[in-house]
Amino acid sequence: MPVFYGAIVACMVAQVVVLYQELPLFQSTVLPMSIALIAAVRMVWWRRRRQRPFTEEQAAAELARSSGILLASTAVIIAVDLGAIFSVSADARTFLLIEAFGCTMVGVYCMMHLRYVPYVMAAMLLSVVVVTSSIFDTVGFAGIAIAIGSLLAAMLSTMRGYYRDFQSMTRAVRESQALSLENLRLAGLDVLTDLPNRRRFFQDLQALCVADPHGENKLAVGVADLDGFKPINDTHGHAVGDRLLKQVACRLLSIFPQGRFYRIGGDEFAFIINVSDAPREVVAISDRLIQLASQPFMIGDLMVRVGCSVGVCIYPDSADAAELLYERADYALFHAKRSGRGCSRIFNAEDEQQLRRHGAIEQAFLGADIEKEFYPVYQPIVSSENGEIRVLECLARWNSPSLGTVSPGEFIPILENSGLIWTLTPMLLSRALRDATAWPEHTRLAFNLSAVELGSSERARDLIDILRSSDFPPERVEFELTETAVIRDFEQTSKCLSLLKSAGVKISLDDFGTGYSNLNQIHKLPLDKIKIDQAFVRSLAPNDSRRTIISLIISMCRELKLSCVVEGVETEDQYALLADLGCEQMQGYLFSRPVEAANTLPLFTRTAPHAGRSGQPTDFCR
Ligand code: C2E
Ligand code: CA
Ligand code: CA
Repeated sequence: MPVFYGAIVACMVAQVVVLYQELPLFQSTVLPMSIALIAAVRMVWWRRRRQRPFTEEQAAAELARSSGILLASTAVIIAVDLGAIFSVSADARTFLLIEAFGCTMVGVYCMMHLRYVPYVMAAMLLSVVVVTSSIFDTVGFAGIAIAIGSLLAAMLSTMRGYYRDFQSMTRAVRESQALSLENLRLAGLDVLTDLPNRRRFFQDLQALCVADPHGENKLAVGVADLDGFKPINDTHGHAVGDRLLKQVACRLLSIFPQGRFYRIGGDEFAFIINVSDAPREVVAISDRLIQLASQPFMIGDLMVRVGCSVGVCIYPDSADAAELLYERADYALFHAKRSGRGCSRIFNAEDEQQLRRHGAIEQAFLGADIEKEFYPVYQPIVSSENGEIRVLECLARWNSPSLGTVSPGEFIPILENSGLIWTLTPMLLSRALRDATAWPEHTRLAFNLSAVELGSSERARDLIDILRSSDFPPERVEFELTETAVIRDFEQTSKCLSLLKSAGVKISLDDFGTGYSNLNQIHKLPLDKIKIDQAFVRSLAPNDSRRTIISLIISMCRELKLSCVVEGVETEDQYALLADLGCEQMQGYLFSRPVEAANTLPLFTRTAPHAGRSGQPTDFCR
């Protein structure tokens, strides 16, 4: 554009010089100089706009305006030329024709991206040439008309090609812009449920925190996890699992029509909602969520049921940054899950304290001298028939220089959650295998494994390597795993257990009755033993329903040809009751508390394997 206007300024100045003596002042000077002035202003305007970007709409509007101005200025120039051409000398006439031709050429060239402008300009010029050549009717004029006409035709046809290229280029740019917008949208979407995904969740959360740094509007940031989804996925296949997740998403969306709802993991969803009356509103929302997710789902002809647990963290009360809000909501969820199915929990001050303790334990573990600070203790499992010690279970102990004694009930779940447990297991197992070589031949070693340690075949092979490099026969080793390990990943756990079994070890299912595992699945595992959780024995009374449950589990074990152990036996009464129910093996403080390796041998030589309440030998060995 500035080039075109620059050419006009130059032509008009030249016109003044050529026609100054041939025409009156207005025609020779005022008119051309006015045109030059307008062109100069436009030229400066365009130069100033040069570095500034246009939006697509602004560019289109500017092109339309420029087309109008250009056509009008061409018409004015041609009119001025026509007005002059009849009253001037032959030289000046030739100048005027060349000037009109030159201006039009520059215009056509500069305006090639405007579809109609070059054609209209060319048509205007051609009509002037034709009119003047017919009026003057000389061979020279006819020649000029033919030359200009053919030049214009050639130029316009080239311009058409340029215009097409320009058009396809703008189309390609538009398409690629649309594509990148779509990609951006898809990058923030979960393909299965069409809900915004984990990435979007964090982006939105961060944006909301930044937009309201003082937390004038409270936000409830929730994480919801389906209970019992994994067994459905494992039993009925992934297609059913996928359809179930879609239905869950639809159902849950119905209570958040205006809220933000996300799928952030396999069966994990999240929400962000504005709340004014935080705890009351959050409890109501969580209850509604849990209730909706717990209604049965129809997948084709199949009816399935899942549950839902919810953890919530309130912004800004409990955290003020996206990552922290999520971490704390997730922590609340972890606690909600521990309280049982279908529970919700809001992160509170007590959780914060616990989370700090978790952090301190993790830090202390990372800096710990594992060999020195950790050691095994052993607790016997005895035969209720003759009091003989059948197994000694290895239990980890930690004496931390900074934290003092930390109970495994506290540090094991933390190490499991952070994936650090494998740092401890090889040392502990090797040491237990070494200690166990001192025990009588009929005694086995039981060793606890975590769910994460049964999560890959590689780990199972590592365990086998440790067993093989010891002097203790694998046939005398029992690995204990909890129900939660089975629920976590049935296929993988089952594969790992088979591998371990092939090395000769026995497998026990620990804490049975607390993990909501699927009996059908348990039946498929290569188990040798079931350990009934201590919760069933605690304050056990003769007419208690727990007694019936224990009795049923004992019968089930007999049917399945599995050994059965009852844990947590503390009193003579419990012992008597359990012995009546036909329980063959027991473990608990009644027989012995866990003891250090050096104190295991005296256990085997005791006349009675437990001290009764009075401290007197009992008739345990009857
Ligand atoms: P667990 O495998 O169910 O072990 C039994 C727990 O109950 C032990 O607690 C034991 O000291 C306690 N106990 C035994 N008899 C009685 C009784 O009569 N009454 C009561 N009230 N408690 C009794 P501990 O040693 O604190 O271990 C807690 C849990 O930590 C264990 O539960 C086990 O799941 C885990 N754990 C311990 N050591 C290891 C380990 O080396 N690896 C893994 N993965 N987990 C371990
Ligand atoms: Ca155990
Ligand atoms: Ca147990």
